Amino acid sequence: MSMFKDIPVDVGVIYEGERIRRNDMQVELGGPSMKEKFELAKVKPLDEVEDGKITIIGPDIKDMKEGGVYPLGILVEAAGASIDQALEGVIERRIHGYMNYIEGFMHLNQRYDIWLRLCKKSFQKGLNSFDYIGKVLVRLFKSELPIIEKVQITFTTDPAKVSELYPEAMQAYETRDAKARGLKDEDVDKFYGCVLCQSFAPSHVCVITPQRYSNCGAISWFDGRASAQIDPKGPVFAIERGELVNAEKGEFSGVNETVKKRTLGEVNKVWLYTAFDHPHTSCGCFEAVAFYIPEVDGFGVVNRSFKGVTVNGLAFSTLADSTAGGRQVDGFHGMSIEYMRSKKFLAADGGWDRVVWLPKEVKERVKEFVPADIIDKIATEENATNIDALKAFLKEKAHPIVAKWTAEAAPAAEAAPAEAQMEEGAMIPVATAATLPIMAGGFKIILKDAKIYAKKVIIRSMKSEKS
Ligand code: SF4
Repeated sequence: MSMFKDIPVDVGVIYEGERIRRNDMQVELGGPSMKEKFELAKVKPLDEVEDGKITIIGPDIKDMKEGGVYPLGILVEAAGASIDQALEGVIERRIHGYMNYIEGFMHLNQRYDIWLRLCKKSFQKGLNSFDYIGKVLVRLFKSELPIIEKVQITFTTDPAKVSELYPEAMQAYETRDAKARGLKDEDVDKFYGCVLCQSFAPSHVCVITPQRYSNCGAISWFDGRASAQIDPKGPVFAIERGELVNAEKGEFSGVNETVKKRTLGEVNKVWLYTAFDHPHTSCGCFEAVAFYIPEVDGFGVVNRSFKGVTVNGLAFSTLADSTAGGRQVDGFHGMSIEYMRSKKFLAADGGWDRVVWLPKEVKERVKEFVPADIIDKIATEENATNIDALKAFLKEKAHPIVAKWTAEAAPAAEAAPAEAQMEEGAMIPVATAATLPIMAGGFKIILKDAKIYAKKVIIRSMKSEKS
């Protein structure tokens, strides 16, 4: 029995978190194989919105080939006497939650990264038009956010039209993000938390601060504040910052308390500005992953739309699997692209001086925010496709991390040049994996959520070993 009698499938929170596999899908909309896709919310004057109007530009679901993949643009235009543009990010992020209430319909990610699937069963039950999806969205928007008085929704699947609208959507995100820059974490006494992704990652809480954008890149501190004000019982809530426990790592007593409560004790401590020890949890819809590369003691960054394999031979999907699920995984950090524009970006780990590799596309997007003396020293897929090439590139460009290698390798070489060193001191994470199989004595040992530490990592060229 559906929550809405005129919708052919059920609608409710129990369907959140449903995954639809390729074999079960009727159609896919957006997703990794579609370059251009987007969802965008706009606040409009009351007289420019026709309440409940659903427009479909291009083929509707029923006209799509079974198993086909199509571009998609979703435009939600909302109006109300007491809403303004500050709420656009909040309204937009609700698309994700509300669409996932629909039985057999999956919505992942956000903004220009959306990935939707409709399952065959729901299609066979009659969910064959965007008209139904639009109706569900309109009703949920108006019942859950009553300050929205009118809402109209446009679904665009015509490829040429999606291409035409895509740059406008990208510009709208940039304008929104730019407004949120400038404020510092020290300037506010409240942060905001979001648990929208707990349906997929139960121990995940996004801690949104002025200088640490949400993992999905869709909610700024200002969006968090607006959301908590208009819907205090909703998924976004205020966090009293509390005492500053550790300025370098970004530890705040209020954050620890809230995260502990909201994860039912699963996560007790969060360090906001580092990828080590107690990093911010990673849900599943982060825009990018920062991953530690032990061979060079630096970080690589890869974004969701990067198609190839990264410099350590792993694709985004593999790195994302090692990171996601609401866990705190040492050396793996799910994050937004906007966080890379923040002065707090991995600040405790060395910030940009510790980044050694990232896709060219990401470098281009954030280049204005990367210190001028480091930008050319960071490799992309055009400079290095494996660790050896990366080491050579970093040495040639005199990346600051190279000085660290020299500093660490020199005393080790003096003490015992031929074998591994064991020294007192901080433990260095060498490898982290969700599942790490080891073969030993005819047995396969599988370590779950493994973290391997070494007292010292020594990087020595093979040539010097032989001589
Ligand atoms: S990534 Fe974070 S801010 Fe974004 S929807 Fe998920 S929990 Fe909320």
